[in-house]
Amino acid sequence: MIELLSPAGNLTKLKYALHYGADAVYIGGKKFGLRQKADNFSPEQIKQAVEYTHHLNKKIYIAVNIYAHNQHLDEIKNFIKYLKMIKVDALIISDPGVVTIARKYAEEIPMHLSTQANCTNYESVKFWQKNGLQRIILARELSIAEIKEIRQKVPNIELEMFVHGAMCISYSGRCLLSNFLIQRNANLGDCAQPCRWKYSLVEETRPGQFFPILEDEYGTYILNSKDLCLINKISEILESGIDSIKIEGRMKSLYYTANVTRIYRDAVNNYYKNQHNYQSKNIYLDELEKVSHRQYYEGFYNGRPDKNAQNYESSGYIRNYQFLGELIGKKHGFYQFNIRAKFSIGDTIEFISQYLEDDFSWTVDKIYDEEQNEIEFTKPNTIALLKLNRKLSPFTIIRKKIDKC
Ligand code: SF4
Repeated sequence: MIELLSPAGNLTKLKYALHYGADAVYIGGKKFGLRQKADNFSPEQIKQAVEYTHHLNKKIYIAVNIYAHNQHLDEIKNFIKYLKMIKVDALIISDPGVVTIARKYAEEIPMHLSTQANCTNYESVKFWQKNGLQRIILARELSIAEIKEIRQKVPNIELEMFVHGAMCISYSGRCLLSNFLIQRNANLGDCAQPCRWKYSLVEETRPGQFFPILEDEYGTYILNSKDLCLINKISEILESGIDSIKIEGRMKSLYYTANVTRIYRDAVNNYYKNQHNYQSKNIYLDELEKVSHRQYYEGFYNGRPDKNAQNYESSGYIRNYQFLGELIGKKHGFYQFNIRAKFSIGDTIEFISQYLEDDFSWTVDKIYDEEQNEIEFTKPNTIALLKLNRKLSPFTIIRKKIDKC
């Protein structure tokens, strides 16, 4: 079966990703993993993450995918030696210098070529294969036709592709906008996402090429890519010979990680159960609309995206649902929730868990604080108790539709 690979920005998110159906997770250490603003994992936490993941017979890959400068190399060498000692399942690397270090000091750990290395053709795949890479995470900028051709021309290497998540206006993060504008380096994992900022921009050097620019009182957003979503292409992707499908988003909430993972999990399982008669379910897109996202599109899947690939009107996220909290235990007949946002008596809240068919709604009749006193509403960063006359699965999440009046 194809591998479903989910992001994990910290240990809690990792547990949710695995519990909601990921076959493997990818994480970053405190340095070198291209997401400086995610919580990330200390060396000790990486060890715990490896043990937890292996206990479930799943896999864990560590991103070491910065474009390193000389001063990083010694520390990277020590980090890679540590990753070898704790037996991670693969290293995700972009920089040929880091590949050289990994081959020298951790030969037995498989190396996956990061999408950051922008591998876009079969000769490039062969090149990296000759240099010891076991898996290629293909550039997001490939169509499915190109991917199929690569598969056909290089049958004996693992191929991974992104199916969901944020896109860059540049080639997968190899971009100097953030460096240039505020001295924060995207290639060292510190991008400030200036492509999402509101610009007033005039491009005068391309006569005959008219970029649509819609403006509101704040400016325009011509660099602002929509989010990738290939849920409606699952059967073709699974038939293309791809080995792993990847969800982007180490900085997203545990609710996002869990819900997006379970949707792709359901779609993949659904495909394998009904291979000759696969039908995507409406609930997939409905649920993907319930996580915080930008407008969806299908990226480069069908070839070069047209002008609809950007959202020219807003760089904001679409948020239809609020993540309220997660189940952390049961005591004296009460379910204990870690509360992330306010809800009140009388609200209708939804409980989601690993399987879509187990979701249900409930109108809140009573809420209790940690000492079992009745309260009218919850407060973020507290524990609240709920009494329900049905059994909740571990890792249950609660959410609420946002009232847009
Ligand atoms: S500025 Fe935007 S396009 Fe450039 S690396 Fe950051 S997120 Fe990607």
